[in-house]
Amino acid sequence: MLFACSVLLAGATGTTESRIQQRAATLLVQPGDIVFRGGLIFDGVRDATVDNSGLIVRNGTILEVQADLTSRDVTPARVIDLQPSDCLLPGIFDLHAHYAMDLFGAGRIDEHEVNPIVFLANGVTSTFPAGEVDPDEMRTARERIDSGLQTGPRIYNSGPYFGTARSGWNNAALTAEQIRAEVDEWAAKGVRGFKAKGIRPDHLNALIDQAHKHGVTVTAHLDSGFRNSVNPKTAILMGIDRIEHFMGGDAIASDRPAYSSLEALDVTRPEMRETFALYLQRHVYYDATISAYGYWAGKDPEVYTYWINEMDFLTPHARQEVQKRLPRQPMNQFERIYWVKRKEVKAFFDAGGGSLITLGTDHPSWGEFLSGFGTHRELHAMVLSGIPPAAALKIGTINGARALNVDSKLGTLEAGKFADLFVVRGNPLQDIRNTRNVRWVMKAGQLYDASELLASVKGKLGPARAEDDVKWKRAGS
Ligand SMILES: [Zn+2]
Repeated sequence: MLFACSVLLAGATGTTESRIQQRAATLLVQPGDIVFRGGLIFDGVRDATVDNSGLIVRNGTILEVQADLTSRDVTPARVIDLQPSDCLLPGIFDLHAHYAMDLFGAGRIDEHEVNPIVFLANGVTSTFPAGEVDPDEMRTARERIDSGLQTGPRIYNSGPYFGTARSGWNNAALTAEQIRAEVDEWAAKGVRGFKAKGIRPDHLNALIDQAHKHGVTVTAHLDSGFRNSVNPKTAILMGIDRIEHFMGGDAIASDRPAYSSLEALDVTRPEMRETFALYLQRHVYYDATISAYGYWAGKDPEVYTYWINEMDFLTPHARQEVQKRLPRQPMNQFERIYWVKRKEVKAFFDAGGGSLITLGTDHPSWGEFLSGFGTHRELHAMVLSGIPPAAALKIGTINGARALNVDSKLGTLEAGKFADLFVVRGNPLQDIRNTRNVRWVMKAGQLYDASELLASVKGKLGPARAEDDVKWKRAGS
């Protein structure tokens, strides 16, 4: 019976002989291929690391995973022999990846020369900037990276903030028609998702509706509903795709700002169960950004350590400027929120939300710590919250790819997907902090040595001389 089936299949798809020839051709390793041999692999499909027999990359795409290399001549390819404790992982998605920095306490600017390399060197191959301060500059940065003129991760441009977070936003005067016209304009410029912050309900409704006409998602930093703000629950009922920072719902009272409810939130309240159910029912992604609150909490010492001194990437002059404002004063409210958020994200995970949590860093951008390193802090914060390491890694990879609708080509290590991956020393399932030890990074089949990437930008971030400081100051954002 089995034999009859295979004959039928052969008849339908070509002769058995030609299929054998095709198979033999793919088995040949070709010049230009890159082969990762040995070590471990976490493919993002399973919840485990397994021994890596061979991963073959050809023309920017994963040709084979768990390839049997025993009887094959791999000499035409570049072979990367991994140490037994090295681990291959899918490239990380940071869905709240600010390129914006404020080195002078004078407003943020989008830094797109050093940051892209730092992201990539940390295994972050996909970034959603979640509100760009200068969206035209960020678009040209993305175009330079896409065309190979500059090294960096994939950038899914967010375009400008929609809401009061944008400098010059006139909440009272703007009409829904103007919002729709802007959405059309930015969608035509290649924006891959919109970010609202400080937005009115009618503006958000127009933004979501118009973005969806272009097949583009919307995410937002919202509030409680207090003073014409929007509670995430209302936004979910409007059809929003993703939510940043906190989940909202009826546990967040509408008669005061969200943070004053959040700092004392009991995540076991029945309203929280309803909120979790709403996310699950409407398939809304949630970017917990735990470590961002941890920074303001006076830096949770478990999460905010240096494994590489991030201030070494600043120019000597910028470093002096940044150091003048250190240490930053912790905010007591954010301290309380940080610990609530660790419980909130675990409660959502336990309620079945594991496939809807995404990794977003919203990393502090004052020069003391850099966004690119933030993904490892966020993964660590998730595991400290009680999320198993394998689930945290999926949150940082395939969940992000799904949230951006690119999971058919990215997010896991599977044959046919784009070769976006990284190699770390040490099994991250045994200690999630092993994701920090990046050896190799690959984006679209292009291989980089992580330490060479970092060495190339040491001492280059920020103005080199006081005369250039003005370019790094932008009031009002
Ligand atoms: Zn942000």
